[in-house]
Amino acid sequence: MNSLFVKAQQLDQSDALKSARERFFLPEGKIYMDGNSLGALPTHVPARVADAVQRQWGEDLISSWNKNAWIDLPTRVGAQIAALIGAKPSEVVACDSTSINVFKVLLSALQLRPERRVIVSDIDNFPTDLYMAQGINTLLENRYELRFVKRADLEAALTEDVVVLLLTEVDYRTGERLNMKSITARAQAVGALTIWDLAHSAGAFPVALNDCNVDFAIGCGYKYLNGGPGAPAFLFVAEQHQSAPEPVLSGWMGHAAPFAFTPEYAPAASVLRFTTGTPPVLALTALEASLELWQKFSIHSARAKSLLLTDLFIEAMQPLEQYGFACVTPLEHEKRGSQVSYTHEHGYAIMQALIAAGVVGDFRAPDIVRFGFAPLYNSFSDVIEAVARLEQIMKTQAWKAPEFAKKAKVT
Ligand SMILES: *Cc1c(COP(=O)(O)O)cnc(C)c1O
Repeated sequence: MNSLFVKAQQLDQSDALKSARERFFLPEGKIYMDGNSLGALPTHVPARVADAVQRQWGEDLISSWNKNAWIDLPTRVGAQIAALIGAKPSEVVACDSTSINVFKVLLSALQLRPERRVIVSDIDNFPTDLYMAQGINTLLENRYELRFVKRADLEAALTEDVVVLLLTEVDYRTGERLNMKSITARAQAVGALTIWDLAHSAGAFPVALNDCNVDFAIGCGYKYLNGGPGAPAFLFVAEQHQSAPEPVLSGWMGHAAPFAFTPEYAPAASVLRFTTGTPPVLALTALEASLELWQKFSIHSARAKSLLLTDLFIEAMQPLEQYGFACVTPLEHEKRGSQVSYTHEHGYAIMQALIAAGVVGDFRAPDIVRFGFAPLYNSFSDVIEAVARLEQIMKTQAWKAPEFAKKAKVT
């Protein structure tokens, strides 16, 4: 462990993103390894939100829609996100929640392939994606076959009657990263469309949506993008699909001319047609401010650091495998997102004990402890200190205290 401490200190000294850490509030003594669930608060964000509240809302009131350009927040924020995910600025918009965006793009995909009847996804996909597909199928009177299969069976599931392949790039449990380019190509080879959920990708590493020829994508604003709790999500629609689907969630903000107030719906000729109602200005203000960090710090440096952080963590955790931890995150770099996960039969209690010891990760049923690595603010010394505290908990069996077995509402 001591030699790893020295290695970590050296890595911290040569860290190209060293100064990014000072741009975040990080509670004293705490090691935060849950940025994959809720990103930390950048120090400049509170003042920006306060300005939006006090000056823009308080003084400028409704004139702010024009004067402070509130009305353009969804596209402005979308363009910032586009730069991180390899899309054109005109292909991304910040709006609604990820769940609602799944609903919208999935319905759009179904419209583009009306003769086909199969929706394919990974049975281990994040549940909301699967639930939304189920809800849509209920709405459409079970017209579709929902072919939810194990990852190993995805290729075989891609037959000529598939409308769309709905996948998450990084598995939220194991942290496994799928090969977006080759999977997209395989789906398109049978004429299917693709929807990629970037919840654990955006802000963690560079995504190349255009290069991979992806049709649709969605993702969260509150994870690696640090937009704050419940931050607006985003959606991506490839240029060639922006004029075909007739939005079903056809709100007035997606209308070609919202302020013409005509009774008939006519969709905007841009990605705006996939938006619905009045944008959440305060939440978008926080997200917009957070995203400005990416003008100073590169997403490519973030990826390089993320791999070093996760490599170091996996190395430091090796001696702890004697306590029953088994790494379920792939060791190959190209198959890794920015989190590392272990199974342990007492994972829940162990994570509660670790949180009480000031190291914040999380637990995912049935038996996974997750550690997220946010390259903008996690340091290499954090990694070693976190493992040292975990080792102490395992050695002393501190996790066996009854208070750590009590399940909270949010795990
Ligand atoms: C976190 C996460 C979501 C969350 O969706 P919300 O609508 O924001 O609750 C969706 N998909 C994946 C893959 C996630 O990891």
